[in-house]
Amino acid sequence: MPNLTTPAILLRTHPFSDSSRVLRFYARDLGLVGVMARGVHRGASRGQGGVGTFAEGVAVISFRENRDLQTLREFAPARAHLALGADVRRLAGASVAAELVLRHAGQEPHPQLFDSLSKGLERIEQAAPGEVIGEALALGWRIVQVLGFGPELTTCTACGSVLEEEEMARFDLEAGGIRGPGCPAAEGSRRVGPVARAQLGTLLRGKVPDGLRGARAHVSLLDDFTTFHMLGGRRLESFRFLEPDADAGAEVSARN
Ligand SMILES: [Zn+2]
Repeated sequence: MPNLTTPAILLRTHPFSDSSRVLRFYARDLGLVGVMARGVHRGASRGQGGVGTFAEGVAVISFRENRDLQTLREFAPARAHLALGADVRRLAGASVAAELVLRHAGQEPHPQLFDSLSKGLERIEQAAPGEVIGEALALGWRIVQVLGFGPELTTCTACGSVLEEEEMARFDLEAGGIRGPGCPAAEGSRRVGPVARAQLGTLLRGKVPDGLRGARAHVSLLDDFTTFHMLGGRRLESFRFLEPDADAGAEVSARN
């Protein structure tokens, strides 16, 4: 059986037996991959295989086509990302991204997804306290976009006309994008002004816009959008912990 060596990020681990665990990695050269890791005990010291969630490093995997679980030969974490687990908002941001990848990434390589995840986790970990929510939004929306679920922000999802830059739009959740001022949107649809649209566009590229406004409304939109389009209606618990410090100048209106 060939051994494959690939950069990988640990997204989830659960016990399989007393002496083995199942680890789910997102691997740059394999996509989503589940491995059996033997001799990994709960509470094992680091370096003995007791690695934490979100650790990134190089995995050596004994790989055979068409089996559910591969065998982990070795995982050498280069970045433990321990700080992600030590702060509830950082953990929540990382968890949202991990969940979307676990649900929607395939078992084939998608280097852009790997790189977005890797870079985003690093940025959430290193962000100043006031920037954590912005980084969590940037990673969450980036993952949505790279997985192919990105919302439509430039043309009306009802009539197909291109919005003028200054026009006020509504965000139609079911349609997965904006409705222009002349087209009806579902009751309770958020208003999304020009600034909010531009900022959302920046977040979809994985960047935090200068002077992010209405962070709470942006979190709520990401929550509703992923719940509807990617999570089969089941809301992720983690969103409850993505609480901005203060919120000013919301241009995405709160749900009403
Ligand atoms: Zn329209």
